[in-house]
Amino acid sequence: MQPVMLDHLPDGLLDCPATHLHDMLQAPTLIHLSGRRPQPLFVSVLQHGNEISGWDAVRRLLKGRYLRDPLPRSMILFIANVRAASRRQRKLTDQPDFNRCWPGADTGDSPWHEMFAEITRHVRELRPLASIDIHNNSGENPHYAAINHIGPQSLRLASMFSRTVIYFSRPRGVQSMAFGEFCPAVTLECGPPHRLDGTDHAMTYLDTILNLDQIPDGPPSPENIELYEMVATVNVADDRSFSFTPDGSSLVLRSDLDRLNFEELPPGTRLGHINDDAGLPLVAITHEGRDVSREWFSIRDGDIVTSRPLMPAMLTTEERIIRQDCLCHLMERISSDALLEPDRRRSELPETGHEAI
Ligand SMILES: [Zn+2]
Repeated sequence: MQPVMLDHLPDGLLDCPATHLHDMLQAPTLIHLSGRRPQPLFVSVLQHGNEISGWDAVRRLLKGRYLRDPLPRSMILFIANVRAASRRQRKLTDQPDFNRCWPGADTGDSPWHEMFAEITRHVRELRPLASIDIHNNSGENPHYAAINHIGPQSLRLASMFSRTVIYFSRPRGVQSMAFGEFCPAVTLECGPPHRLDGTDHAMTYLDTILNLDQIPDGPPSPENIELYEMVATVNVADDRSFSFTPDGSSLVLRSDLDRLNFEELPPGTRLGHINDDAGLPLVAITHEGRDVSREWFSIRDGDIVTSRPLMPAMLTTEERIIRQDCLCHLMERISSDALLEPDRRRSELPETGHEAI
């Protein structure tokens, strides 16, 4: 399996919404566009076929003034899962999750893995300025950038998109993790697809980075970045009933729970009420498999409360998703010391993960 490589934009491509790209592109496609500065910027869109903000940002950018003016810098555009995009799906049933198949993956070996390894080798030789992989997520999360290598340039690149930056090292096989080995690399999470503010934000950011001479090599100042790491996943214990309305369930979660996403919660923040004395109904497991439930949550006067400062992400009030996936992920702030001495801090970071990426 080979990616298609082009040195120009096919006529009419920029007029295609994500759902119609498959009419013009038969496979994952790399398009090399030359600009005034030869060192290219790598941009990846539609790794997940229903996450369209990246493609919409690119087509609006290239249909704007760069239709008339040369690009300020060369660009390598990767348009990934056009088949899934044609069906408005993250991936199709006969496909792997593309963003788990890049070098370093622990998902085995397949023709897909070989193709992504080939793309990685090819782009690495072209010594890109930086790599930007654009995604969407669901729910009312703010836009944020994620990185897999803590270094001055990756922190700079990320903080230019959002003050909120998340570090993760699980799952493996993520594009930004593979490219982070040889250039500053970020994953952008632009909020829900189909919302104009996500596309606008991604487009403005791409234009900014395309116009840089270089990525500044000093770390961002602490007031320009809030760096967090994913540390644990929280589930409701299998043997406990729960709901969001007072109906006699073992655990009654507060109905506005998802409004706590990306809020720094002080210890003692109430998450819900418990109607029995069967102990903690929440189970928090780190990505190394350690049960940290009792360190993070406690019961006080029949309420379940947080025990230490934390920030949840991807909290949902959909009971089906909570049972199938999880209640939320927990993040902890990484101190600004990490920005000053990134290499020392990096070696101390535990393995963490983020399923939505
Ligand atoms: Zn995605």
